[in-house]
Amino acid sequence: MTRLFNDPDDFAADSAAGFVAASRRWVRPVTGGVVRSTRGAESTVSVVIGGGSGHYPAFAGLVGPGLAHGAVMGNLFASPSAHQVHSVATAAHEGRGVLLSYGNYAGDVLHFTQAQERLRAAGIDCRTVTVTDDISSAPITERDKRRGIAGDLVVFKVAGAAAEEGQDLDGVERVAALANERTRSLGVAFGGCTLPGADEPLFTVPEGRMAVGLGIHGEPGIDEVDIPTADGLAELFVSSLLAEVPDGVDLATARVVPILNGLGSVKYEELYVVYAAIDRLLAQAGVTVVSPEVGEFCTSFDMAGASLTLLWLDDELERLWLAACDTPAFRRGAVADRVVVDEIEELTEEFVIPPASDASRAAAVTIATALEAMAAMLDAEAEELGRIDRVAGDGDHGIGMQRGSRAAAAAAAEGLAGGAGARTLLQHAGDAWADKGGGTSGAIWGEMLVALGASLGDEAPVGAPEVGAGVGRMKDAVMSFGKATVGDKTMIDAIVPFADALAQQLSAGADLVPAWEEAARTAQEAAQATAHLTARLGRARSHGDKSLGTPDPGAVSFALITHTVLDILKGEN
Ligand code: ADP
Ligand code: MG
Repeated sequence: MTRLFNDPDDFAADSAAGFVAASRRWVRPVTGGVVRSTRGAESTVSVVIGGGSGHYPAFAGLVGPGLAHGAVMGNLFASPSAHQVHSVATAAHEGRGVLLSYGNYAGDVLHFTQAQERLRAAGIDCRTVTVTDDISSAPITERDKRRGIAGDLVVFKVAGAAAEEGQDLDGVERVAALANERTRSLGVAFGGCTLPGADEPLFTVPEGRMAVGLGIHGEPGIDEVDIPTADGLAELFVSSLLAEVPDGVDLATARVVPILNGLGSVKYEELYVVYAAIDRLLAQAGVTVVSPEVGEFCTSFDMAGASLTLLWLDDELERLWLAACDTPAFRRGAVADRVVVDEIEELTEEFVIPPASDASRAAAVTIATALEAMAAMLDAEAEELGRIDRVAGDGDHGIGMQRGSRAAAAAAAEGLAGGAGARTLLQHAGDAWADKGGGTSGAIWGEMLVALGASLGDEAPVGAPEVGAGVGRMKDAVMSFGKATVGDKTMIDAIVPFADALAQQLSAGADLVPAWEEAARTAQEAAQATAHLTARLGRARSHGDKSLGTPDPGAVSFALITHTVLDILKGEN
């Protein structure tokens, strides 16, 4: 239970404000997160980490000399937007390039990749190493599909130490990838976390049972067993991780760092009971334990659970793992003297509204009305969309769509007041949706609105053919952005039939309202039909079979939105 909050909607922002106020020795705030408040004598490569909030000390607690240069702070359990990543990376950049590193989750990958493209376009050399340590999330043959959990700390620490040593971007990228290659984790959970303001936990584990491999956002596990003794849990952790020793490691001479991580409500003494057995079992296996860590490194609010991470060292990784660092949550040794950076003004971007024709401004009024109606509808449907997403995903689809659409409607209202045309209004609304909605769906809806706006422009009147063409552009944009195709069990399965039906109706000469009505009906049927598919993409992928019988949440919300827009179009006539 998370008991202390003001407005639950503001929880992540309120918590970030408190974190900054308490941590000025290490960090200063910038749009989208924090960067270091100090600088060394020489400039270095910048390591920028991040993800959703709710995992402290990941990510902001790991910013400081010898570790990360900046952390992007998304909303609760939601990826930060590309705009936020871009802003933090730009502020953290010291002229020697940027390494982006984060846990491998679909929403984070979309946003960080988009930010990487923007950084490169701005002339900043930028590379990415995603963390994929969780052995339960995909088989070893598909390591690149595994998600990141407490192994985050290892990869960030090694990359940060290499940067601190003065290595160039190639070097920092290489050791970060090596650290990830040699880091494996497994987690268990006894009970779910309850987000601020929520009445119920995000997920539950039956009394007396333990979910094995359950994700840090409550993504379903791979197994469920009776809760073992502390020794029994240590045995499960160690035997599972020893079954997957990285290539080239010889157990007889191996040196390994164990990291026993509490996920929220399993406390230190309890962890030490488990650690006693872990230490014994590793020694029995013949490996040498180096500098173990027991504590909280990647949490999930008050989730009752723990994970064990093993980092298989070589000489280089050992040097980098043991190097000095000084951050709010992780410190080691003494770092060299630092210079305090003068408070730089926050990077905030002014929203400029270019001139628009009367016709386009008239269309913008309808669009803003539709966005407002969408936000109201998604408010009402948030709970149900969350429930569908919880079956095989992480349960945040309702909350993400609610937050994103609300922000988009507010941005649209602001654009309208400034006299924006269709393009500018949709671009502003799309950026707001991606910033505030987070998650995969936030990135995609942001992309869709921006693409629709680009097609409509700020000058041309918006009639049926323009709407048909714009929806087609929207569909193309999502497909090239998210790389999903029909049958992957994503919102694409509703968007494609919708766009195709609309184009077909319009080219057969139908008016906009009946054409849209027919297309919306098609979208709804297609969304329901996704219940028969197995997920191949996104968070639901690693637990594909669990989603059989339940429709894809993104497809369902898309179909609902087409109906809301239909009501607005009907009202226009
Ligand atoms: P997250 O997956 O980050 O938790 P949400 O729960 O808000 O984000 O959204 C999940 C939805 O996103 C899925 O139901 C699916 O429709 C959609 N989605 C996921 N990956 C893709 C993709 N690559 N292309 C299009 N849509 C996707
Ligand atoms: Mg989700």
